[in-house]
Amino acid sequence: MKKRAAWQVSWLPALVLCGALPVYAQEVQKPRLVLQITVDQLRGDLPHRYSSEFGDGGFRYLYERGVVYEAAFHRHANTETIVGHTTLATGADPSTHGMVANVWLDRETGKLAYNIQDPRYPLLTKGAGVDKASEVDPTQRAATTDGRSPASILVSTFGDELALSNAGKSKIFGISVKDRSAVSMAGHAGKAFWFSKANGEFVTSTYYYKDYPSWAKNWNAKRIAFTYAGKSWELLHDRSKYLFGDRDDMAYETSFPGYGRVFPHPFGKSDGKYFTTLLTVSPVGDEVTLSFAEALIDGEKLGQGRNTDYLAISFSSTDYVGHFFGPSSLESEDNLLRLDRTLAELFKFVEQRVGLANTVIVLSADHGAAEIPGYLKEFGVDAEYLDSKIIDPKTLEKLPAIEAVKKKFGIDKDLIQAYFQPYIYLNHDVLHERGLDEAEVARAIAVEVERLDGIWRAAPSSALAGGSVPTTPLDQSIQRNYNSKRSGDIYVVLKPRWFIGDFDGLSVASVHGSL
Ligand SMILES: [Zn+2]
Repeated sequence: MKKRAAWQVSWLPALVLCGALPVYAQEVQKPRLVLQITVDQLRGDLPHRYSSEFGDGGFRYLYERGVVYEAAFHRHANTETIVGHTTLATGADPSTHGMVANVWLDRETGKLAYNIQDPRYPLLTKGAGVDKASEVDPTQRAATTDGRSPASILVSTFGDELALSNAGKSKIFGISVKDRSAVSMAGHAGKAFWFSKANGEFVTSTYYYKDYPSWAKNWNAKRIAFTYAGKSWELLHDRSKYLFGDRDDMAYETSFPGYGRVFPHPFGKSDGKYFTTLLTVSPVGDEVTLSFAEALIDGEKLGQGRNTDYLAISFSSTDYVGHFFGPSSLESEDNLLRLDRTLAELFKFVEQRVGLANTVIVLSADHGAAEIPGYLKEFGVDAEYLDSKIIDPKTLEKLPAIEAVKKKFGIDKDLIQAYFQPYIYLNHDVLHERGLDEAEVARAIAVEVERLDGIWRAAPSSALAGGSVPTTPLDQSIQRNYNSKRSGDIYVVLKPRWFIGDFDGLSVASVHGSL
């Protein structure tokens, strides 16, 4: 689920390392398994806020037994899912790994490209791709093909280096509800599976397999997602036990038809148009991911061989729940308590099959989330939703100030080709026709965009390319996001705490970003 973000600096993901410490004797003891967990949109303060409500064996195991990096931040400006995951997978900035946004304009085709789309590698399951009629994630809807591969990741991942280190002896996997979260973490050398909202199964593409391994076929045959038909997301505890127990029915939350904004949230019938989507906007998305992970660990005998295996699991529910209800909501609170139970079950399973003493666990987040403007306003903090039209290419094109810039350069055709967060893309063909300097025109447009209400910063990429960037943390983070082949001409930052929540007909309550 994508979002118009506001203050795109970086965010504080909790990062926890736990497990086998190397023993320096005759030989460094290798872990049998590296388990890299990413919790989508887990803001760093949230596990602390609920720490007294957590049970044993989940978050508490990591906090008590692990190394905790409290001040871990992403360094890049565009804190979105593919950007953050690929940074976690590679250790590189988006300027280097190339995943600068969930969607960017492909200058060769003139079309928006979804980050991991690749027509060469169709899904192994026909009809399991994005159903544009029911897909609520505008990022996913932007894909022009159902094919998927990691080809657009420009550098190696941890899994890649592991494979290179031992001639591919390690087993390397990435799984998630979201395709981009599985594919990025699996890297080029690993194998990825993700949840298809179209058929309720975990699927993959021909980049990875010619046919499903039997354990995956068996798991899919169980139709586990459909066992939730007719059920609801209910609170784990009595309402009085929750910090947000008396704040369930908040007007600013997303009230999705049939799902509502108060507990219980019904998933509806199994043939409901949004049935599988609603599972992902609840702890169930993480529960089915865990179930699939357990089947994978057993099916592939992870951690049983002589070489270190790698499993990346990205849990997506926290992100979807956050977008619908905000990070400070009863839903978010209950979701994290249930995620804590999901983690506890995962660690118990790994202990049985591999041994936690033989496993290195890493847990972090791809980005955080801003508070909902309605919540902020309750406490007197200035925040608001912006009309998506303010940055729409058609609106920009007709602005008197932009028209004046065009006139100055003698441009009489449409100049603003696209805006897709975070970049404005200018029509380079128009500029080339007139022999204009792209950088000069982009700078002039950026000056006018930055003057608009609700816009905090409009950074022309020409400055980034030339390295003449102010030394503010914001500008430095925009620079780290800049890749000459994929970034647009102007990076737009909205006013702090303000964002566009309505996009492509979908309204979300909260978005990514940092404050
Ligand atoms: Zn994300």
